[in-house]
Amino acid sequence: MFSKIKTNLKSSSIYFKEIFLVYLVIITLTYIKDSDSASAYFLITAFTILFFLLLYIIGAKRCREIEKIKSTVAGIRKNQFTVPDEIILENNLSGLQEEIQKMFGKMKSDIEYLKKLERVRREFLANVSHELRTPIFTIQGYIETLLDGAINDPKVNKTFLEKANYHTISLSTLLNDLIDISMIESGEMRMSFRYFDIIEFISKQVEEMKPAAEKKNITLLFKPGKNKITVFGDKDKLRQVFVNLIQNAIKYTEAGTVSIIAEDDAKYCRIIIRDTGIGIPEEDINRIFERFYRVDKARSRAVGGTGLGLAIVKHIIDAHDSKIEVKSKLNQGSEFSFRLKK
Ligand code: ADP
Repeated sequence: MFSKIKTNLKSSSIYFKEIFLVYLVIITLTYIKDSDSASAYFLITAFTILFFLLLYIIGAKRCREIEKIKSTVAGIRKNQFTVPDEIILENNLSGLQEEIQKMFGKMKSDIEYLKKLERVRREFLANVSHELRTPIFTIQGYIETLLDGAINDPKVNKTFLEKANYHTISLSTLLNDLIDISMIESGEMRMSFRYFDIIEFISKQVEEMKPAAEKKNITLLFKPGKNKITVFGDKDKLRQVFVNLIQNAIKYTEAGTVSIIAEDDAKYCRIIIRDTGIGIPEEDINRIFERFYRVDKARSRAVGGTGLGLAIVKHIIDAHDSKIEVKSKLNQGSEFSFRLKK
């Protein structure tokens, strides 16, 4: 009991000066007005008791509020709340309640975000290890077989070496894609924007990729309507976008045509890469830009895919303040498109 009184009085001490000042004024006035009479002493005693009573009541109220705040903060620390609305303070502390609720909401979403990042990091690491293991084990297998004697067998030695070499190339492609994606995602990708002629640029890419298309009897078409369209972008990074998209169009097309179209209006040039290939099932369309996502894993690997190409494309197009779009119909073909500023 005594300690409670002491705590409450102590808690009100921050208002002590103000209340004491009022007390002094009242006492002084009472004394001046009626200094000789007994009633003045009675009033002064009554005011003194009132003074302490007031301090006690204010202290008790303050203690209650602080206790509530303390228990709320402790509750947050002990994960007792699931949603911000569960945090309720006294009516007169609604401003503080609102701020604590907002802080709690932010903390919750930050924790969720960190958990998601951790999950993505773990998945990425697992995917990378898995992707690296496949070619490394295959190369190891061929080399061991050759060392065990196959090197002297003219029927298989060259084929085994060629196969080991093919997987070394896959490994190097995968490592290059991994380096690109980690640079992009860690924010180390430096963009270098300038104006250049996209028609000349695409024509060059198409020339370089024609042999790969011809090997599969696919017609690679680029018939620009204009001789020159100047766009604003990072030429090196866009080269990677074109290579990935045209390579995919060729990889996932069995027969027919891969067309590249460049249409412009006053402000933008729209690039379309269209194929007559296997298409993408509707349920996979939204996921193909995720790292390592493949519609058909075996097929992607068989055609030398890393599963990272479209993730890199998306990052580069995003960095151009643009958006990569895709339309596709199963067994009819796909169309990837994006806009570049003129
Ligand atoms: P990959 O290295 O496997 O080609 P990408 O990130 O480039 O990886 O593409 C992801 C997946 O999207 C591919 O595995 C493939 O299933 C699908 N895909 C991409 N481009 C095409 C296309 N033009 N036609 C059909 N499927 C495609």
